[in-house]
Amino acid sequence: MYNIISTGSKGNAVIYFDTILIDCGVPYSHIKPYIDKLQMVLLTHQHSDHLNMSTIKQIQFNRPSIRFGCGAFLSEMLSGVRNVDVFEAGKIYNYGLFKISPIILYHDVQNFGYRIFKAGKKVIHATDTVTLEGITAKNYDLYAIECNYDEDKVFDVIREKTARGEYAHQRGSVNSHLSKQQAQAFVLNNAGASYEFIMLHQSSEF
Ligand SMILES: [Zn+2]
Ligand SMILES: [Zn+2]
Repeated sequence: MYNIISTGSKGNAVIYFDTILIDCGVPYSHIKPYIDKLQMVLLTHQHSDHLNMSTIKQIQFNRPSIRFGCGAFLSEMLSGVRNVDVFEAGKIYNYGLFKISPIILYHDVQNFGYRIFKAGKKVIHATDTVTLEGITAKNYDLYAIECNYDEDKVFDVIREKTARGEYAHQRGSVNSHLSKQQAQAFVLNNAGASYEFIMLHQSSEF
């Protein structure tokens, strides 16, 4: 159902159902092996670990019929790219073989998560958000949710770095990213008896 090409601050790209790529914050060479089956590229937000314009242009060049989807807030960055569908959050977009519905997330720039409905399966993909409040996804088959930091560790790391006079970029994580504990609570509140949980965007440090 999914293939994680890369997740985390070094680059993000996840393929669902062999056909739908979410984010392309990786070099084109990482996408190339899967390009033939792709039908749609869904973009979340402008950060370079999620959006590599050179990769987008190469995807378009090699697969001219592929569609891109994003929020209006990315339209300007994508000017020059063809086949861009600009989405509104909460609406359901029917592409025949699958349906897409964007979700508003809460990051330091405008950002979308996505619901994908295909072949009777329901997937939610949400990363780079400080909260999932107000979002529900009952009885989904796959939860791909950001688990950026561990609440039990991050505050110690910040305290130790600050005490040493170092810059603690973890402060930024706490203000614009989701913790493992928040993700787990979301899955517990929403999942039914059978589901898969992928931890996206985990930090290597804490
Ligand atoms: Zn990110
Ligand atoms: Zn981000």
